[in-house]
Amino acid sequence: MKTLIAYLLWPTLMVLCCTGTALGIAAGHELLGFNLSYAFLALSLFALERVYPFERAWLLDDGQMWPDLLHTLMSKGGVQLWVFSSAVIGAAGHSPATSWWPTDWPMWAQVLLTLVIAEFGLYWAHRLSHEWAPIWRLHAVHHSVTRLWFWNTGRFHIGNALTSIAFSAPLLWMLGAPGECLTWLSAITAFAGMLTHCNVAMRFGWLNYLFNTPELHRWHHSRVLSEGNRNYGENLMLWDQLFGTFLWPRDRRPPSDIGISEAMPVSFTGQLTFPFRRAQ
Ligand SMILES: [Zn+2]
Repeated sequence: MKTLIAYLLWPTLMVLCCTGTALGIAAGHELLGFNLSYAFLALSLFALERVYPFERAWLLDDGQMWPDLLHTLMSKGGVQLWVFSSAVIGAAGHSPATSWWPTDWPMWAQVLLTLVIAEFGLYWAHRLSHEWAPIWRLHAVHHSVTRLWFWNTGRFHIGNALTSIAFSAPLLWMLGAPGECLTWLSAITAFAGMLTHCNVAMRFGWLNYLFNTPELHRWHHSRVLSEGNRNYGENLMLWDQLFGTFLWPRDRRPPSDIGISEAMPVSFTGQLTFPFRRAQ
C-alpha cells in the first residue's frame, strides 16, 4: 500500500495542480487558479516532507531559509513578470510571426509543443551553466544547498534566472506562441520545479524517462561531477535523452551528501556578489 501511494503521489499532485490552473483559466482568473494550485502544492509538500521524508537529515535547519526566500522572490518575481507580460503581448497579437504557430491544434498539443521548444533553450542554458565556468558561478548559488526541500526550489541567482529566460524566450516569441501556452509553460514549470526539490519518498518508475522527477534531480545535485553534470531538463527529459546526458542508475539510491566544492557565502548579499568575485 505504501509503495502504491509512493508511485501515485507525483502524478496525482501534478494532475491536481494542472486541474486547478485549468479551472482558473476557464473562469477567466488564471492568476488566481495558478496561485491557489501553487499554494496547495507547497502546503502538501511541507506536510508530506514531515510525514514521509526521502532523507530525514534534510529536515534539519541549514540556516539558509532567508537567503532561499530572497533569491526566490528576486528571481521568480522577474521570471513571472516576463511570462505574464509576454502572455499579454501574445494575446494582443503583437508577435512577429503569429501565423507560424499551429493555432488549429488542440490546446494540449500546443502546450506540449511549447514545452518541447522551451525545454531546448532551458536545456542548453542549464548545460552551459555547468560546463562554462563564468556562468557556473551564477548557477553555483543554486547548487550550494546541502539539502533539498520544497523551500529552496527557487533559490536561483537573478543572473542565472535571466540567462535561462534569454535562452528560452526568443524562439517562442518568434514563433508566436499564444498567451495561454505561455501561461501553461509558466505554471507547469513552477509545479514540476517545486516537485523536483521536494524531500518526499516518492517513486516514479517509467515516468523518469519522460519527466524531470525528484529522483533524477537528486542525482543532478550530486557532489560527484559525473553524476551532477547530467539531467539538465527543466520539465522534460527529451533533450537529455537525445544529447546523451540522461542519468538514472536503477541500482543505487540518489546521494544524500549533496552540494559543491566551492565555499559559498552564507549571507544573501554575499551570494549575490559571489559570481563576480575572483575564484579562490
Ligand atoms: Zn544545475
